This record gives sequence, C-alpha cells and structure tokens, in this order.
Amino acid sequence: MTIPFFDGHNDTLLRLTEDARPDKRDMFINGKNGEGHIDYPRARKSGMAGGFFAMFPPPVKASVANVAAPDFTKGDLPPLLDIANAQKSTNAMAALLLQLERDGVLKVCRSAADIDGAIAQGKLAAIFHIEGAEAIDTDFQAFEILYAAGLRSIGVTWSRANAFGTGVPFRFNADPDTGPGLTAAGKALVRICDQRGVMIDLSHLNAAGFRDVAAISTKPLVATHSNVHAICPCTRNLTDWQLAAIRESGGVVGLNYATGFLRPDGKFDADTPIEVMVRHVDALVEALGEDGVALGSDFDGAMVPKDIGDVTGVPKLLQALLDKGYGEPLVRKIALGNWLSVIARTIG
Ligand code: ZN
Repeated sequence: MTIPFFDGHNDTLLRLTEDARPDKRDMFINGKNGEGHIDYPRARKSGMAGGFFAMFPPPVKASVANVAAPDFTKGDLPPLLDIANAQKSTNAMAALLLQLERDGVLKVCRSAADIDGAIAQGKLAAIFHIEGAEAIDTDFQAFEILYAAGLRSIGVTWSRANAFGTGVPFRFNADPDTGPGLTAAGKALVRICDQRGVMIDLSHLNAAGFRDVAAISTKPLVATHSNVHAICPCTRNLTDWQLAAIRESGGVVGLNYATGFLRPDGKFDADTPIEVMVRHVDALVEALGEDGVALGSDFDGAMVPKDIGDVTGVPKLLQALLDKGYGEPLVRKIALGNWLSVIARTIG
C-alpha cells in the first residue's frame, strides 16, 4: 500500500539551479545521477503527490551545505540580501519550475482544484513558494509578476532580516522571540496576500512577526516546515503559545525532517531514528488536533535521518505512524488531506 502524500517544503529547485552542470531538467525528470533527495522518478515511487517547491534566494556567499546544517553556536543573523541578487536566483528557480511544467512532469497549481486536477492527471502538484520575500519590492510590482507566474505561498522571511520582517537566527536552547516584528511593508504584504489568496508561511519568522501575522491575517496560520520547541528547543521550532495560536486559527504545521530541528540535543546528525520524528508528530497532534498536522520535509535543504534518506523513505515514516497505532484515515490526513484542506482555505 502506497499512501499518497503532499510535502510542505523542498529546496529541490535551489539544489538544481546551484548545480554547475547544465542538464538540470534531465536530473529532475529522469533522475539522472540520482543525487539529492527529490527527483521525478523517486517522487513517483514514494507516493509523493506534490508539494511546496520553495524558491530560496541564497546568501551571496554560502553553499547549500551550510544552509542544510546551520551552526547553532554562531547564532547571528546572516547579512541582508539585496533585491537584485534575490531576483536573479528567484528567476532561475522559477524558470526551472515553469520549464518542468512545460515538460509535463508537474503542474504549477494556483488553487486546491488545480491540485486535484494535477493528481488526476498523474502530475506532481507544485505550489510556487518563495522562502523569504527578498525578491519582492515594497511597491509590490514584483509581487504581481510572481503572482502571474503562479506564486501562491510566501515565507515573509528566511532566517535573516528583510524589508518586510525579521527571521530567527539559528540558535539552540533559545526562544524564537529574537527581534522586531513586521515592518509597515510587511504588514501590507500580509494584507495583500490575504486578499489575493497567497498563503503566508510562518516558518523562520520570529515571535514578534508571528504575532503581527496572527493579528492581521484572517486566514489559518501555517508553518510549512517547523517542529515542536518543547522537544527540540531551537529558534526554528514552535513554542506552546505559537502552536495554540495555529490551532485557534484552524492552521497547519508541516513536520520538518532536518535532524537539528528534530533531536532534543539539536545536533545535525543523520544517525537520528524515525522514532524522534514520531515524537514530534505525537506532540503536534496533541497541540493542534488531527486536522493541524502535515509533512514539511525540507528535502534538498537539510540533513535528514539516514533511515529516511530521501523522498523514497517517506513511506517508512507513514508506516511508523501506523505501527504506533495511528489509524489509516489519520495517517492519510497527515500525509495529504490536511494540506489540501488548508490550501483550499487560504489559497482557494
Ligand atoms: Zn527553511
């Protein structure tokens, strides 16, 4: 039995665009080289129905490796990223996503109905997501262009500051209450996203920014790839009051597979049992209810448990939930149904 699942976050477009080799489409479509965590053949084999395809504009001088396993001991915010560099990398990732759509392996979904259609056609259902709004100007001209290209989900910040707000630095044994809230432009962005049906993603945003989004947005609160702070007390994870606010709003949290955000010791160590992931799911179900928990792997952007390995390991996580006594209907909601529901209620 293969249970179909939808994934709240992958950095596959970043991995492919940063690869110096020219045959990026071949790497994705045919799984040429079989590297990284996600390509089309492995996605199909695993039961992946689709997911949020993030466009993360990387720091000018950083490798995927040090983004995948950030150093908790440094604890400072990376420098600001200028809009020219952000648009350059975002254009490359958006172009690749649109090319893959033309190639016929995925569909850029602009609504929950589009996702149903993509699944029915046997295509991967992709949500166009930007992780950090650095590529958007405060007059929102680039917003219009990206929206027309399919943008339907925005993380206001990555773990740095930008014109809209401030993200959390990567710190362990630390609270996400680390700095100022949204700027005036950030508050305007939230209102525009609400009006236009663009999901706001709270992962990476600091506590003050989270409070601002919760106060302004009329939509369910969503953290696409975050875990439980009470189990792994790093700034990227959600504290009790944040989980309560998400539940109150009818929102969703996607389980992040990054070992440093799973383990009680905060170590980025692939030797992390799937049981630790199940502990977070248990706590998320407890905090959010059965409608509030979903998946948000961070594939191709994080070091994941070796027993998961890549996207073909997701069925092992779902099996571990079944083995723990989760009924199949609930596992199917965590895998797919809860994302479809919250996407319908935010994007439309
Ligand atoms: Zn992230």
